[in-house]
Amino acid sequence: MTLQQVPVISVQGKPFDRGQQHGSQAREQVRKDVDSYFDLWQQLWGAKRSEVLQECKGFITAIGEYDADILEELEGIAKGADLSLEEIIALNTRYELTRIALIRSQSPTSQVESGGCTSMAALPQVTKDGHTITGQNWDYRARFYATDIILEVKQETKPNLVTHTEVGTICHDGMNSTGVGVCFNALSSNLDRFEPRTPFLVMLRGILNSDSFDQALAAVLGTRATVSGNILITHRDGEAIDLEVIPEDVDCLYPDSGIITHSNHFLGFTNRSDLKDTAKSSKSSSPSSLFRANRAWQLLELDRGHIDIGSFQRVFKDHFSHPNSICRHADVRRAEPEQIATLASVIMDMTEQTFYIAKGPPCQNEYYQLTPQSLLKD
Ligand SMILES: [Zn+2]
Repeated sequence: MTLQQVPVISVQGKPFDRGQQHGSQAREQVRKDVDSYFDLWQQLWGAKRSEVLQECKGFITAIGEYDADILEELEGIAKGADLSLEEIIALNTRYELTRIALIRSQSPTSQVESGGCTSMAALPQVTKDGHTITGQNWDYRARFYATDIILEVKQETKPNLVTHTEVGTICHDGMNSTGVGVCFNALSSNLDRFEPRTPFLVMLRGILNSDSFDQALAAVLGTRATVSGNILITHRDGEAIDLEVIPEDVDCLYPDSGIITHSNHFLGFTNRSDLKDTAKSSKSSSPSSLFRANRAWQLLELDRGHIDIGSFQRVFKDHFSHPNSICRHADVRRAEPEQIATLASVIMDMTEQTFYIAKGPPCQNEYYQLTPQSLLKD
């Protein structure tokens, strides 16, 4: 077992200043991450950098309409990293752009997934000491192994937040000082298309900018996505709701006896005749999704009444159907762009506002503890 830690970047002040601190503290890493994505899109889609940047222009308006402060923070990241706003927008719409790249590529593997992930939450009635716990394995392309950071954001008029995200991006999974937590998993459907709407990473930031659970839900319900995605929102006071988002609709799932899990296929939208779940297609590279969510639920259930951080760690290390297991490893039978692995495992004790993070597959990397003082602000 090795112990690696994810780099921490702390920012504070007004939106543009926060972004500029982020961009300047990690200038080289942001620029490298942007280049990695343009390489990926070139490889998957054949799109030139200038073409992708042109596609990104429409997102500027969409993000500004969603939250002008988020757009300002992105402008600050661009300034700090000495990149154009469109390049930072491209990084923050990487989920949508990669999905569209796969659709447009028209290749035999055009249905390969945009990412993976298994997410879980357990509520006070089933945990040891009544804690609320959530977390996810972040399963993603192996080439992005060294791109994640812990971004600590101290805000003046909104909650403080700490997110595990890619460098140069505004949010992914994390929690805030008012008790809201979030995890994100890829979903894909035949309804996915490319329009300049609110990107998921921006929506996730909208959730962690919220000072209550209903506002966190409104951060998703009040806007529209252009592709599909799954968002698990948890509150430290003992609540969790999973939102399956498609371009024109949202479905919600509630915990089953205090436990909720999700992977990369639709569990809610099962009776909508116009919706075809890409994960269930014969071309899907993610058949493991069909057992990961259910298996995670069953494995947590074994500890019902005394579920703790150790229970989450045990589930996230599970190797059933290795390498395409909950603890996921690169499947060398597939081409490199399709190789997905658990690049980090993040567990959040919402009650103690503490993260437990394993950098890389948790079977090989020890979890370490992080309790950001900024989350103690109320
Ligand atoms: Zn493993």
